[in-house]
Amino acid sequence: MIVAMLERATEEEIQNVVERMIEIGFNVHRTTGAVQTILAGVGTPGAFSHDDFSVLPGVSEVIRISSPYKLAGRSFRPEGTVVRFANGVSVGGQEVAVMAGPCSVESREQILESAKLVSAAGAKFLRGGAFKPRSSPYSFQGHGLDALKLLREAGDAHGLLIVSEVMEISQIEMMMPYVDLFQVGARNMQNFNLLRELGAVRKPVLLKRGIAATIEELLLSAEYLLAGGNYDVILCERGIRTFETYTRNTMDISAIPVVHKLSHLPIVGDPSHGTGRRDKVPAMARATVAAGGDGVLIEVHPNPDKALSDGAQSMFPGKFAELMNSLRIIAPAVGRTI
Ligand code: PEP
Ligand code: MN
Repeated sequence: MIVAMLERATEEEIQNVVERMIEIGFNVHRTTGAVQTILAGVGTPGAFSHDDFSVLPGVSEVIRISSPYKLAGRSFRPEGTVVRFANGVSVGGQEVAVMAGPCSVESREQILESAKLVSAAGAKFLRGGAFKPRSSPYSFQGHGLDALKLLREAGDAHGLLIVSEVMEISQIEMMMPYVDLFQVGARNMQNFNLLRELGAVRKPVLLKRGIAATIEELLLSAEYLLAGGNYDVILCERGIRTFETYTRNTMDISAIPVVHKLSHLPIVGDPSHGTGRRDKVPAMARATVAAGGDGVLIEVHPNPDKALSDGAQSMFPGKFAELMNSLRIIAPAVGRTI
């Protein structure tokens, strides 16, 4: 159940509603939007009547939520979520966020060079894997803590925020000082224990769509984070598995407007994993922005042919800078900036 308060509702009236919701067994999540306070009741309450709430002082509207995700649904925050970071950077607002960097952190030189290049082209986030989920146990698995330290060093040297993948609960604490945004990879989208733990941290999470996950499953995974009180969630469309084999995955651009309709959470597109081929990345990055995506996550490597992971889909720095120029033309056409 969602209780939307009147714009002029007093704190006392809000508290009264919160107490009544708790009394009947709801967990109450409160959000204060630009115009009104919204109270979402989740959990399994005892018997009650929605009408009893609609007549309480200060209440504007009581909405039954039939979708399985309550907090990730649009009605919890009709005006949309803006996830705010240091340096005035945000995701979900007017500006389209660009996150770029290599698939994996390989060496100090490689990540410092990557940071320099992507920041010069206009990216705000440096990406780079420290813990890598690889299909084969014999492939490069990432440099772990050393990589996290290098990421922070490179990010700080070039004014970039850091996004990196967390694969398991034990890594959360270790990563805390080094990352600004925890990435949950496609393979972990339904690692519910990990999601629960990340729901308890107060740092934003980038949740990637699972390889064969429906949009509803993606939103339900986001619900785990929100239910823990972490409302700073950014979704990511990174391609899903279909019968098509020409591309590594099939990038579902339509997920962007669908998510925007169903949810208040921002969504970014990852055309690198979405296509698996660097020559297809610019078109799908442009499509992401044109479709209203709140950002793009792009793999860029100073020397893609020597990359230890995902070389074929990593862009050459010059091509990435060119792509940025074209995104700067597209963004204003859909009411955004880059
Ligand atoms: C990555 O970002 O390098 C990655 C492994 O992504 P995904 O989880 O989408 O495969
Ligand atoms: Mn990768």
